[in-house]
Amino acid sequence: MATRYDVIVIGGGHNGLVNAAYLARAGKKVLVLERRPRVGGAAVTEEIFPGYKFSMFSYVVSLLRPEIIRDLRLPEHGLHVLPLESTVTPMLNGDYLAGWADHDQTRAELVRHSPRDAEAYDEYGRLMQLMARAVKPILSMVPPDPTSFSPGDLLGLLKMGRHFRSLGAEQFHALFKLMTMSAADFLDEWFDFDTLKATKSASGIIGTFLGPRSPGTAYVLLHHYMGEIDGVFRAWGFAKGGTGAVSESIASAARSFGAEIRLDAAVKQLRVLSGRATGVVLANGDEIAARAVVTSLDPRRSFLELVEQQELPGEFLDDIRRFTFRGSSGKVNLALGKLPSFSCLPGFGPHHRGAISISPSLEYVERAYDDAKYGEFSRRPYMDCIFPSVIDPGMAPPGKHVMSCFVQYAPYHLNGGWTDAKREAFGDAVVNALEQFAPDIRSCIEHRQVLTPLDIENITGLSEGNIFAGELALHQLFFLRPAPGWARFRTPVRGYYQCGSGTHPGGGIMGASGRLAALELLKDGAA
Ligand SMILES: Cc1cc2nc3c(=O)[nH]c(=O)nc-3n(C[C@H](O)[C@H](O)[C@H](O)COP(=O)(O)OP(=O)(O)OC[C@H]3O[C@@H](n4cnc5c(N)ncnc54)[C@H](O)[C@@H]3O)c2cc1C
Repeated sequence: MATRYDVIVIGGGHNGLVNAAYLARAGKKVLVLERRPRVGGAAVTEEIFPGYKFSMFSYVVSLLRPEIIRDLRLPEHGLHVLPLESTVTPMLNGDYLAGWADHDQTRAELVRHSPRDAEAYDEYGRLMQLMARAVKPILSMVPPDPTSFSPGDLLGLLKMGRHFRSLGAEQFHALFKLMTMSAADFLDEWFDFDTLKATKSASGIIGTFLGPRSPGTAYVLLHHYMGEIDGVFRAWGFAKGGTGAVSESIASAARSFGAEIRLDAAVKQLRVLSGRATGVVLANGDEIAARAVVTSLDPRRSFLELVEQQELPGEFLDDIRRFTFRGSSGKVNLALGKLPSFSCLPGFGPHHRGAISISPSLEYVERAYDDAKYGEFSRRPYMDCIFPSVIDPGMAPPGKHVMSCFVQYAPYHLNGGWTDAKREAFGDAVVNALEQFAPDIRSCIEHRQVLTPLDIENITGLSEGNIFAGELALHQLFFLRPAPGWARFRTPVRGYYQCGSGTHPGGGIMGASGRLAALELLKDGAA
């Protein structure tokens, strides 16, 4: 007789795996169904060229919730995050701006460019830390519905109200500004030095179809401030073995609690009987029954592809159709014979152990967005680059290196659509932009992989290649993610839950959605 599962989790990305691990830990019989031959979704490590391993999509870790690392004992399952020690921004005049792990060194560097900014920097850092602390409890909270009168929602709203009141006027005002302003305008209130503002504002545009001067980007900047590594606030790191090692460690934890993970198992449809989920149908026609089903796919796939439309209310379907994706990011993975030398810091140096930000001025980044606004990829793109093999030599053959370039902007809706020729032209634009600051880059490259948003969609399933499974815009956050009334991980189909990045609190390797959805399902006694 076929095994009957308590819960089927659709998709073995990190959120699906976190969800499965928490459910299995609670004693449920769980099956994860993953379409690809490996777990991880957008958090995978792949040997794209012989001997060269890449964090193919997501490349740095910080947002992963500490309670998940603890509850699932991820270090015992192989998670090891190595800190990224610096961010260096090469400037157009041949100079550079560096932020180092050492506070005094960073301060001295800022004094070199702007003594006034050096003064403001510490206060700014303190404020952002306070803001991140103010918003953090919300990451672990099931969003209350402000239009509902249910005791749970009212209590949740009351708790939130109390929390925000406890911030005090000054912090509350700053938070409101962060929620509404553009990253550039917010940073203008603090700093003079353009390269500093450009580099900081870059965290506000990552994954969005917005420029640093677009309102709403200050919130995304804050979103990227909410991470920590080993208790160090807003530190970013590199997972030993690449981001795939994060997913593998969660998968290992899930298996240790008894979860089963089936690869090459694409789900075609949710089975529904009398408004209740009863299992799934796979692409190969197999049917698997379960008492509850959780989807970790984005809202478009979860509701418009997997569920027969007559099972869902029209208003809900309209909301899901309106949920926007607008992928804007690409990724270029380079296999290097040697490390490039940057004109601003020639030769090999500590900057190769950290991030290189190609964001020399606000105008540079805003102009990169201008191209995208009119349907073209940026001729001179913004980039966040790291050399994982310098931190973790196992990522490349001895003496060789890998370089990861996260690139914006590459609009999903490119004029005339993406073709092989346009992909290569986009890759060329990336190399040209790097060459401006690292003149020998071409001679270092042995192989290159160029990923457009269409490639990201085709490989990971993330609609329109949006890295967050839906834009992280204010109208799609908290009780509106993914639709008003359906932000509490449940769906209009009883026993069908959602746990991917398209739900609160949104994207990034965070795991929060996976965990919260598991706790809600258990609370409902749905399996
Ligand atoms: C280029 C890029 C760079 C990024 N950089 C970073 C970064 O540096 N740091 C960071 O924190 N975040 C980063 N992100 C964002 C982060 O990777 C994602 O938000 C996160 O990994 C999403 O996790 P998830 O589990 O919600 O969904 P996914 O990872 O998308 O997982 C969904 C899974 O479902 C599977 N699937 C799809 N359809 C089906 C089906 N029909 N049946 C069964 N399985 C199916 C997919 O194969 C996939 O494995 C980046 C993302 C991208 C694309």
